[in-house]
Amino acid sequence: MPAKPRRFMFSLPRRSDIHEAVTRFCVKNKVRKGWINILGAADVAKIGYYDQVRRKYYDRTFKEELEIVSCIGNVSLKDGKPFLHLHAALGDTKLRTWGGHLFPGSSVFAAEVFIQEVAGPALKREPDASTGLALWRCRA
Ligand code: ZN
Repeated sequence: MPAKPRRFMFSLPRRSDIHEAVTRFCVKNKVRKGWINILGAADVAKIGYYDQVRRKYYDRTFKEELEIVSCIGNVSLKDGKPFLHLHAALGDTKLRTWGGHLFPGSSVFAAEVFIQEVAGPALKREPDASTGLALWRCRA
């Protein structure tokens, strides 16, 4: 990473997958740690939640006109590569909002991305026995 953390703003191509396109950008620009905000619209989105008892993700795929009301997340390292963790609130044509963990498998209609790179040592995701998730080591 350069001496000063960088900020990026860019748009995603129509029909691109949010995870694939933003991960590709992070690899190309060597962004290994940062905060992400995205807004726009999609015509496919897969969101869900992590069942804390069964330790399993459940998902639902929406194939309709959707506003990406808000998508926040971060990029850190998993297995040495940039890995995105994204959550999204999606609005439908009745202005209802659905939200959850955003999985790969979206299709962008139009999307605008902001990434704030964060300085300091790399954050690495590692298996966490108490949750079953790949988490950063707690430092709090
Ligand atoms: Zn999540």
